[in-house]
Amino acid sequence: MDTVRQKFYITTPIYYVNDKPHIGHAYTTIAADVVARLHRLLGEDVFFQTGTDEHGAKIAQAAEKAKQTPQEFVDEISAKFSFAWDQLDISSDDFIRTTEPRHKQAVAKFLTMLKDSGKIYEGEYEGLYCVGHEAFIKESDLVDGVCPDHKTKPELIKEKNWFFKLSEYGDILKERIETDEFRIRPYTRQNEVLSFIKQGLEDIAISRPNVKWGIPLPWDPEQTVYVWVEALFNYCSIIGFGEDEEKFRNYWPADIQVMAKDIIKFHCIIWPALLLAVDLPLPHAIFAHGFFTIGGQKISKTIGNVIDPNDWVAKYGADAVRYFLLREVPFGQDGDVSEEKLKIRYNGDLANGLGNLFSRTTNMIEKYLDGDVADFAVSPKDLSAAWDAFSTLNFSEGLVKIWEEIAWANQLIDKAKPWELVKTEPEKVKELLLNLTGLLYDIAGKLAPVMPDTANKIRKIIESGDIKKPEPLFQKIE
Ligand SMILES: [Zn+2]
Repeated sequence: MDTVRQKFYITTPIYYVNDKPHIGHAYTTIAADVVARLHRLLGEDVFFQTGTDEHGAKIAQAAEKAKQTPQEFVDEISAKFSFAWDQLDISSDDFIRTTEPRHKQAVAKFLTMLKDSGKIYEGEYEGLYCVGHEAFIKESDLVDGVCPDHKTKPELIKEKNWFFKLSEYGDILKERIETDEFRIRPYTRQNEVLSFIKQGLEDIAISRPNVKWGIPLPWDPEQTVYVWVEALFNYCSIIGFGEDEEKFRNYWPADIQVMAKDIIKFHCIIWPALLLAVDLPLPHAIFAHGFFTIGGQKISKTIGNVIDPNDWVAKYGADAVRYFLLREVPFGQDGDVSEEKLKIRYNGDLANGLGNLFSRTTNMIEKYLDGDVADFAVSPKDLSAAWDAFSTLNFSEGLVKIWEEIAWANQLIDKAKPWELVKTEPEKVKELLLNLTGLLYDIAGKLAPVMPDTANKIRKIIESGDIKKPEPLFQKIE
């Protein structure tokens, strides 16, 4: 009998291509990658989506400034995201761009369904629009007349739009969220969304008459789809909505959607309401992580402390960057990172911790067992708690558990002093080294979702059964 593998669909937001990738984008994508890799190792049929969001007035403006056509501009920036994800060993199954025909077709079909649902009407809107946000902004949110995030004056826009009756969805969303049918984590974010719903939802414009760089409405081609509405639908178009129904039905709904906390209103209110309007199931869970400061300062172009993830990868390697970001700040909370902190983790946890355990164990195996570990022992420790933590996105906690065992093993060697013991009790030394090898093998297996390259190196060397002068895993950095 065929066993049907459980499906697992995980997403990142599609990143807006007005600028190249920074460490925050990398953080979201690494986290989703770890969860995707974990579920693959558990034998599930995983689909891991990522991609780029390429329409809207902001892109058109940025392209004009760069003296490029919007398409040239988005091609260039989108490629930078793909490159960064390759450098970081991101194992996504597909990469969607909203300028692709498959996405435009899926969005047109979705909008037609939305129109048929009766939840769309034509109206006039007058309001303040922040191009930086690609969203309308309330007068009460302004500080000294400018958007507090973008420090720019919003445009007063009066125009004909098509509206979506978001106001009708407050009660049903509240119920789905409170019953955890639609799970929002951490709870602070769930509370934030619930209190926003409590204030009362207003209908939203889903089209723009004067934004040319976008997808036209099927029934009113003078208007393009509001960039957020269109971008959200990528989660369906990438898995074949309107094109490959079997594939779409296999993977939808998403099991978990990972993102930064600033975009939860779009993902926890507008997105599920749109899905309800067209009778599509809601994602099972949304997980929103916090923001980084860099050495105590807010990340800003003006301060000039924006970190290009490629720079860190070039210096420290993908595995070290992945480890550092997930270990340093508990996922879901705000936290501080810096190259100084990365160096401390690299030298401490990686070179002195895991790297040292690996080097001294393999060196002694070579010296005392002639490299022979063909029958290494089963791990003397149970590390399954690490994966339990990863599966609930408690990456830091899972890594701490693994490093506790690394510290335990290093202390065990210090105490046992195999270099002395070998003179009198070589059998005991053999047993100790085969146990340590078993532990290292298990550590590598458990680390594989976070540090795939390091895990693979350790496992291959042990599996060869004959250890001869392995390279150090991490070279200490001065
Ligand atoms: Zn703004």
